[in-house]
Amino acid sequence: MLQQTRVETVLPYYARWLKRFPTVAALADAPLDDVLKSWEGLGYYARARNLHRAARLVQERHGGSLPDDPEALRALPGFGEYTTGAVASIAYGRRLPAVDGNVRRVLSRLYDLPAPTAAELRETAAALVPADRPGDFNQALMELGATICTPRSPRCAECPVAEFCLALARGTVAERPGRKRVGALPLEIVGTAVVRDAAGRLLLVRRPATGLLGGLWEFPGAVVGPDEAPEAAARRAALAAGAVLAPDAAATAIGVVEHTFSHKRVAYRAFAFRGAGAAAADAAEPSGAGVAPGDPVQGGGRHPATGRTWADETALAELALPVAQRKLARLAAAARPRL
Ligand code: SF4
Repeated sequence: MLQQTRVETVLPYYARWLKRFPTVAALADAPLDDVLKSWEGLGYYARARNLHRAARLVQERHGGSLPDDPEALRALPGFGEYTTGAVASIAYGRRLPAVDGNVRRVLSRLYDLPAPTAAELRETAAALVPADRPGDFNQALMELGATICTPRSPRCAECPVAEFCLALARGTVAERPGRKRVGALPLEIVGTAVVRDAAGRLLLVRRPATGLLGGLWEFPGAVVGPDEAPEAAARRAALAAGAVLAPDAAATAIGVVEHTFSHKRVAYRAFAFRGAGAAAADAAEPSGAGVAPGDPVQGGGRHPATGRTWADETALAELALPVAQRKLARLAAAARPRL
C-alpha cells in the first residue's frame, strides 16, 4: 500500500484491510471483487491484484508463510527490488538495501550524485546496510528522507548525518538529486454514458483483468475520436456495451469529472441517455455479450470490456469503482430527478 502512497492516506485502509483479510489464506480465498472493493480509492490497483495473486502463490508454493529467501520473494507478483529488499530486511533481517524515493534523495545528497541510476543507488545503499538490524537501518534511511532530508527545505542543521554529507559541504543540496524532466501530461477526453433501464438501474461495464484499473467497474465510455462529439462517443460506448437506445434517445450532459493518472489526464464527459432499455438477457450478471471486441473503452482505448451489469443503488455501492467513476455515479444520482 505504501508504494506511491503516503502513510496518512494508507493507515485507515491498512486497518480495514487487516480486519477483512487477517491472514494470507483469507486473502487468497477472497474473490478478486472483494479485494478491489477494499482497495477502492487508494489507486494503482495493480498493487491490489498483485497482492491477491501473491497470496494465492504463497498458499500454493509456501504453505501460507511468506518465504524469507529473497529469490523466492522476488518471484512473487508485485515484488520488485524495493519491495523485496524492504520485506527481506524488515521482516527477516536479511542484509539487503531498500531504495525508495526518499532513500534516493538522501543518498544523492550524501554522496553528491547528480544523476545516479537505480543500479548505482542500489549498490551504494547495499554497501551501507549493516549486518546487524538491516531492516531498522533501511527504515531509518527512509524516515530521514521523509522527515529531515525533504525535497524542499531540508533541515540540515538537525540532520544526524550532516557531517558526512558531500552535497552540504559543496553547497549543492538544492540541486540533488537532479530533477527528472516531466512534460505536461496529455489530456484524453472520454465520452461517458449514464444509461438507466426502466427499473432505474445503471449500466456498468467491467474493465479487463489486467492493465490500467484492471477488473474494476465503470460507466461505458469511449475516447473521443478526431472530429467526434463527446456525446457521440458516449452513445457509441453505450451501444457497444449492449444498451438498447431509442433512435431518438436524447442525451443530457450531466457534468465532467477529471482525473490525473501517472501518465495522462482524463476528462470524463458524462451524458445521461433517456429512452434507454436493455435486451432481456442483459439483466444477467456480467456476460461480456454485447461488447464489441476491440471497441475502445475509457481510460485506455485499447481493451475491450470483459463484462457488464445493471446495478441498482445497493449493487452499485458494492461494486469496486475507481475514484473518478464513483464521482460519476454521484453525478448520475444528482441528475436523476431532472431527467
Ligand atoms: S545534511 Fe542536509 S542534505 Fe545532507 S543528508 Fe542531511 S538533510 Fe540531507
